[in-house]
Amino acid sequence: MLDPWSRPRRSRAKITVLCLLLTVIVLHATFTPAKHGSSQENENHHSYASRKRVEPRRVLEEAQNDAAQSDNNDKNYAEFDISKILVDEEDGGKEKPDPNKPYSLGPKISDWDQQRSEWLKNNPDFPNFIGPNKPRVLLVTGSSPKPCENPVGDHYLLKSIKNKIDYCRLHGIEIFYNMALLDAEMAGFWAKLPLIRKLLLSHPEIEFLWWMDSDAMFTDMAYEVPWERYKDFNLVMHGWNEMVYDEKNWIGLNTGSFLLRNCQWSLDLLDAWAPMGPKGKIREEAGKVLTRELKGRPVFEADDQSAMVYLLVKERAKWGEKVYLENAYYLHGYWGILVDRYEEMIENYHPGLGDHRWPLVTHFVGCKPCGKFGDYPVERCLRQMDRAFNFGDNQILQMYGFMHKSLASRRVKRVRNETGNPLEVKDELGLLHPAFKAVKVLKS
Ligand code: UDP
Ligand code: MN
Repeated sequence: MLDPWSRPRRSRAKITVLCLLLTVIVLHATFTPAKHGSSQENENHHSYASRKRVEPRRVLEEAQNDAAQSDNNDKNYAEFDISKILVDEEDGGKEKPDPNKPYSLGPKISDWDQQRSEWLKNNPDFPNFIGPNKPRVLLVTGSSPKPCENPVGDHYLLKSIKNKIDYCRLHGIEIFYNMALLDAEMAGFWAKLPLIRKLLLSHPEIEFLWWMDSDAMFTDMAYEVPWERYKDFNLVMHGWNEMVYDEKNWIGLNTGSFLLRNCQWSLDLLDAWAPMGPKGKIREEAGKVLTRELKGRPVFEADDQSAMVYLLVKERAKWGEKVYLENAYYLHGYWGILVDRYEEMIENYHPGLGDHRWPLVTHFVGCKPCGKFGDYPVERCLRQMDRAFNFGDNQILQMYGFMHKSLASRRVKRVRNETGNPLEVKDELGLLHPAFKAVKVLKS
């Protein structure tokens, strides 16, 4: 017997046409709005409610929604208790670190310079210098994996990363934002250490890694770091030799914004820097040592900045030669002495100077904008952070003919009229096409 699929061509064609017809009828019934009684309802058929009524396949969905939805609360973000989702996950089965073993950031590596130069030789399309005296730089910043402990903290983190994206785009710098705690032992301000090591080892093409705290913002968008100055150095931090080496002052340098070269020396430095980091007893005991040994340090657990001062003081001979403590411009600038002077700076100077006349970075040390408590009144911190953001953002907006109405205002005003020849407009600071971003195309 012939099965249906081996029938002669003509009758197979008939069946196909029949199937098609049936499909069209079914589809039509599904998608055509049924005619409801009143003309008003017909007029309304675009509204969500009536659309649902005429789409049979949504009925089940709708019934489920109705059941869960005695009122509209489950669609209200303001009413939702976020702790429902943000339950603290157990650290399933992760073994506790052995307290007798010294802490280590990772397997010992001692030939990184060789490994890296080999890699660079084999990967000429990823050079570690992208121009003469222009190293390839990765700016690294980050924040905790959880939402901020106060309701506006995340908004300020957003402003701060927007500010960094702007500076980095202008200066041809790559950017990495980290929210993962790579090593549970190194929570808080110590989290940057394992992260930095991981990034150096994964990106041999990066010559300098630029760590920048999430509470620091660029306030001079035109200032290019004097890379040439650091050609013989591996670590550049804002600070003063006398304050670190003579006074042993805990604020003799700042670790909220620094440059670290990708080399063996830096891996060794990270290893020497890390031992006071593991949270708990080690960090607490180390905090006592640091408070005892360093000038002006309050009583609190060991922090990365004090540990760096202490390391340099103790082992100056080993590290000092490759550490550049910069104070000719603000690689880090303490907000307390800068933010109230912005108007005066605007009056007298211009971007591109980077120093006290127009600081490269304004860092909100102690404000803890993502935390519950800071060391300063919240209102002062937030107002001043807005001013710093707007001060930096004005230099971005001017490229497009706008600026903030005032340093306190998030609103903007037009400062240049639109023209029919947009390409003839030159922005005041030349930031649209700055020389430090120019790329040379090799003609073959
Ligand atoms: N940080 C992080 N993960 C965390 C907590 C902090 O990456 O879980 C980073 C964040 O960028 C922050 C920096 O560590 O800016 C240092 O902390 P903070 O700025 O609060 O210290 P301060 O500058 O006030 O001494
Ligand atoms: Mn900070």
